[in-house]
Amino acid sequence: MSEKEFHGAHVIVTGGSRGIGRAIALDFASKGANVAIVYLDHRTQGQQVLNELKAFGVDAEEHATDVKDFSAIQQLFADFIQRHGRVDALVNCAGINRDRTFSKITAEQWHEVIDTNLTGAFNCSKAVWDQMKTQNHGRIVSISSIVGQAGNFGQANYSASKAGLLGFTKSLALEGARNNITVNAICPGFIDTDMVRGIPADALEKVVQKIPMQRLGQPDEIARAVTFLASPASGYITGQVLAVNGGMYM
Ligand code: NDP
Repeated sequence: MSEKEFHGAHVIVTGGSRGIGRAIALDFASKGANVAIVYLDHRTQGQQVLNELKAFGVDAEEHATDVKDFSAIQQLFADFIQRHGRVDALVNCAGINRDRTFSKITAEQWHEVIDTNLTGAFNCSKAVWDQMKTQNHGRIVSISSIVGQAGNFGQANYSASKAGLLGFTKSLALEGARNNITVNAICPGFIDTDMVRGIPADALEKVVQKIPMQRLGQPDEIARAVTFLASPASGYITGQVLAVNGGMYM
């Protein structure tokens, strides 16, 4: 990939204030893209990422907007499209977990996770779709999870949301293909971010032992897969699920 291959492109990354989303936003900016990040409420981190993005000499913006809120997202992205005239790529990365065994999980915890991880991706994709069709070009990459492929103890809500993203991706890929919109998903394994740091140390140690590469992944290892799928080089790849998991699930 050439260093500035996204020069002039306009990209939206949800979940861009921290962890994987931050790494994705920075990788795009390092390759010349103008980047908007969307996050929930960690404003200090959002501002920090904004400064890091601007240091690459690109246009950058940050928005504390809840991806669960359909109207707020439609308005935010409509304003974005009006200002920039286009949207080249959307990365659905905003996500949460509320882990409980199925006996203990509440309806609220179920809905919060589905509404953020799955409906959030619907809300954001919906808000860019018609523009991508009009411009006859677009890239949507959603961050699913190894847990969406394999399931996981205590993560029925999270696993359902991430598996849902895979069906969503394949259906949108079919609908977008004739307009040169590619839609793909990435299934990270266990990546070293705040989300994984929330796992108790002894449990995390056991997880790492099950990873053939014997280590957690790094956020930038996911970011490089995202920018590849958003690049011109991958224009014939659509409806695919790319696992980036150190060999943990094949
Ligand atoms: P983090 O917890 O580090 O960051 C989550 C990001 O999502 C933050 O930017 C957060 O904003 C944002 N966010 C959460 N809820 C909302 C919302 N309602 N509206 C807008 N933004 C929201 O997570 P990771 O970086 O670890 O994970 C990123 C994605 O990757 C998630 O979808 C996760 O499920 C997925 N993933 C992570 C793996 C891992 O091992 N870490 C493995 C597989 C998948 P704010 O900072 O304001 O809270």
